[in-house]
Amino acid sequence: MINLLEFNNAGITAISVLIAVIGSFVTLTMNERIVHSVQTKMNMWLKAASLSLGLTAWTVHFIGITSLTLSVSFTYNISFIFISMILAVLTAYLAFTALYKLKKHWWTFTATSVLTGSGMAVMLYIGIMALQTDAQAQYNSSATLFSFLIAISSFFILLQLFSRFMYKRSFLLKLLAALLMATAIVSMHYSSVKSVFFHLPESVFTSSHFVTMPNFIILLVLLPIGIIFLFMVALSSLDRKTALHLAYTDDLTNLPNRRSLEQFIQARTTPLNLPIAVAIIDIDNFKWINETYGYESGNQLIIEFSRRLKQLTPQFGLAARIEGNKFALAVPGTFSCKEIQDLLSARFLLLKSSFPIFGEPLHITFSAGVVLAPEHGSNFNDLILNAERALRHVKHSGKNEVILYNTHFHDQDLERQLAMSFQKALENQEFYLCYQPKLNLHTGLADSVEALIRWESPVHGFVSPAIFIPIAEKNGFIFDLTKWILDEACRQMKQWESKNHTIKRVAINISAPMFLSDRLTQTVKQTLKRHGLSAHHVELEITETSIMEQFSNALSVIDELKKEGISLSLDDFGTGVSSLTYLKRLPIDQLKIDKSFIDDVHISAEAKALVEMIIQLAKLFGLTVTAEGVEKEEQLHILNNLGCDSIQGYFISRPERASVLSERYEQETITDVLTP
Ligand code: C2E
Ligand code: MG
Ligand code: MG
Repeated sequence: MINLLEFNNAGITAISVLIAVIGSFVTLTMNERIVHSVQTKMNMWLKAASLSLGLTAWTVHFIGITSLTLSVSFTYNISFIFISMILAVLTAYLAFTALYKLKKHWWTFTATSVLTGSGMAVMLYIGIMALQTDAQAQYNSSATLFSFLIAISSFFILLQLFSRFMYKRSFLLKLLAALLMATAIVSMHYSSVKSVFFHLPESVFTSSHFVTMPNFIILLVLLPIGIIFLFMVALSSLDRKTALHLAYTDDLTNLPNRRSLEQFIQARTTPLNLPIAVAIIDIDNFKWINETYGYESGNQLIIEFSRRLKQLTPQFGLAARIEGNKFALAVPGTFSCKEIQDLLSARFLLLKSSFPIFGEPLHITFSAGVVLAPEHGSNFNDLILNAERALRHVKHSGKNEVILYNTHFHDQDLERQLAMSFQKALENQEFYLCYQPKLNLHTGLADSVEALIRWESPVHGFVSPAIFIPIAEKNGFIFDLTKWILDEACRQMKQWESKNHTIKRVAINISAPMFLSDRLTQTVKQTLKRHGLSAHHVELEITETSIMEQFSNALSVIDELKKEGISLSLDDFGTGVSSLTYLKRLPIDQLKIDKSFIDDVHISAEAKALVEMIIQLAKLFGLTVTAEGVEKEEQLHILNNLGCDSIQGYFISRPERASVLSERYEQETITDVLTP
């Protein structure tokens, strides 16, 4: 028996190693894609990775075989070549399927390695069996066993690498992993070919010339290399495409995302200024749905909602998912308010039928804010901002409606922001009181002041009480605020009293909700007690509207306060309903004529007559009269002549900090202004 010589062609071996490295790198990249892609794409990547790994192992093996030169003529069995190729790919597929579809335990890793490693070893031997010659192939059993062990451990290493390289790593690290993989693949090949010896009986051996591979076999082996190369090209172009797709598509629903919507709207609005309607739609109570039915069902609802939204989108429109349970519908075209409302309500009918997602049919509601370009904004940001404003308005006024944007929504936005800042502002001492003197026209002394609240917010700047008081009244903060005002004003008054200051009384404005609540008297009493201040130093200013709202209730509150010795004045007289009958029945002490009556008192005989009438009426009911908003000397003289008891206004003083007034009125009387 003659053992035939086998030569390995060093050049071809080098090529096979290079292919092993490149193939491993491509497989590792595809392995990343499996993890990163959505469910539907995952299977595609899994198959691609299997093909890549299988073909790499197979190609390395066959290139190795083609580098053999035998000193005997030989041919190849094409069926064996194909069977081994298919087996290589199937084995790789099994490895990836087990890795991604089975629970990860050490024993699943081991079992998969044994199975796939053995599969790959069988592939290697089928590959060797494809070599057909007169020589006898003899397998060394221990070397064969060793080659199986090498294949199993190689697959164990491969599986470890795949499970550790699921997420993007640095290029260098991935290259190192590819080198390790390539070593495993190449060693599988060598351990298998080294376990075979070709023997020829001496009688058959004729010459010692060496026969090399037929050309078509080389071509056949080069085919998978081509496939792997194609994979690389496809992968990089797919990468670019996928990145682009991901950047503009929502993962869960496959709808265009916010960026896509921006591009769509911007293309029409800037700089072309073409008309477009945009609706932002939000599923009502989605948080509750998620918590009650579970996040998976919540996702199903979102997917079904998106499907319907896409279905109802007009031909040239765009439906997009902006975030969470918020969607958008952009419809190019000119619409009047009515047209867009009609169009949307007709189309949205589809969203209103029940969703069979939770086992039982569930009816959901949704809210939508709609804007029209260019009326409500000429670019994406303005339009979305205003649509969100309209949406917020719907959400705050009961949900389940489609509302067109309106400029009033801006005010409501500010209202909400202010309301949210109140409590913190009180804690951070952002509020303070100013005091505006009332000049007693009989004595010429500024003997009382009105406390006026000020808010210097670090966020909103100076906010006028005319703006924030009505908001505080609406959201209930007025109770805490009035308590603080009462406390602060009484503290200050006590200071003036103890210094025997000219200022003998402080007037505090009381809002309707506070006035009509049953806490007012108690709060005032407690505050006075806390500061050791007697009641005649305090006056409460109430408005007509707070009295007229609940007249009998107001009467009993006034009675209670009067019993405590607190005087009351009716603020802004003339601006409300001003029923004379009611005025007669009210046990108040003072009437403050609103600034609007005073403004023209010095230039209009009618205004003067009106003020005169109010003063006389007040006198008739036994009330003292204060005129508000006196800005000019002429006004002061006229009011003095008409019998007004005191005046208040910028002519005397603007509202000032207590320290300013303390100093100003300590020595001073202002009688001189009374002399015409
Ligand atoms: P009000 O109680 O009628 O207070 C008079 C308002 O007119 C004050 O405005 C005062 O600064 C302003 N004023 C006084 N004299 C003149 C003048 O000669 N010319 C002009 N143009 N204005 C003058 P302010 O401080 O902005 O307060 C506005 C309103 O906010 C108050 O009207 C009152 O209704 C409410 N407010 C102010 N402080 C408080 C408070 O502490 N509690 C409550 N509940 N309401 C307050
Ligand atoms: Mg007032
Ligand atoms: Mg007033």
